[in-house]
Amino acid sequence: MSLVTVGSVAFDEIITPFGESGKILGGAGTFISLAASLLGVENVLVSVVGEDFPQKNLDFLVEKGIDISGIEIKEGEKTFFWKGQYHNDMNSRDTLITELNALGGFQPKVPANWRNPEVLMLGNLHPLVQDSVLNQVEKPRLVVLDTMNFWMDSAWDDLLKVIKKVSVLAINDEEARQLSGEYSLRKAAKAILKMGPQFLIIKKGEHGALFFHEDEIFFSPALPLEEVFDPTGAGDTFAGGFAAYLAKTKDYSFENMKNAIIIGCALASFTVEKFGVEKLASVTKENLAERIKKFKKLSHFNLNVENFI
Ligand code: AMP
Repeated sequence: MSLVTVGSVAFDEIITPFGESGKILGGAGTFISLAASLLGVENVLVSVVGEDFPQKNLDFLVEKGIDISGIEIKEGEKTFFWKGQYHNDMNSRDTLITELNALGGFQPKVPANWRNPEVLMLGNLHPLVQDSVLNQVEKPRLVVLDTMNFWMDSAWDDLLKVIKKVSVLAINDEEARQLSGEYSLRKAAKAILKMGPQFLIIKKGEHGALFFHEDEIFFSPALPLEEVFDPTGAGDTFAGGFAAYLAKTKDYSFENMKNAIIIGCALASFTVEKFGVEKLASVTKENLAERIKKFKKLSHFNLNVENFI
């Protein structure tokens, strides 16, 4: 079994300078699993929804190749709802509404046939929920954890405990600064790598992603797109692509993880082109191959340093 993901499945409502989405399918777990399926990786999504969650959304996830046997439908509850509004630069947003609903008392259950995964992807949820999933699986080769400032403010001790147990931590630049108390991202990375994880990803939105391990650093740009329509879920798509690529190749060297970072950035570049999962849902393997080539071209150069100096 390849990839177990735990993460939210949601109704999102998004306002951008280009328009309003209305109530659409969202959730960190949804984006992660869709990214994994696009890479052809066998994966299960562990989550919870309310009884208002339409069957057509579940059918859509199944159609995309996601095993939904880990999604609980909670009777008498509504599905998690999140509403956010982006500012004109599309880099910052305000959360307008968070209604936890079914996600409130979420007690994830990893299906019995999925207790031995290659990779475990802990999507952004309460650290105790992430920890309970970690305790249900047997020694995955890699555990990736995504979190956010909200848990640093509200569940600091629980977060530090679970961070200690994972191999890869994925956070954004502001979160790296908050977690470490360091402004310089290099110093922040050094401090965070002492907290437990062997690898650290610092997501920088439209400026790509930094990847740290021991004294090594790798950087992937984000693809400069003419139009960024809706950045929601880009970070989750990135993390899903990263984790799934490693589950597929089973090579956990730093060199191969660099490839995983590029795959994550390439997949995330699709997500931002339309509302919610709309673009990701229609991407083909050929589209992905084209995009990876664009990434190669974007930062490849042939300058021969020895001849020049
Ligand atoms: P991102 O743009 O990567 O921050 O992820 C956005 C997704 O995270 C949306 O689809 C939301 O449904 C989901 N989300 C927002 N807040 C939370 C939360 N507190 N817990 C779990 N998922 C959330």
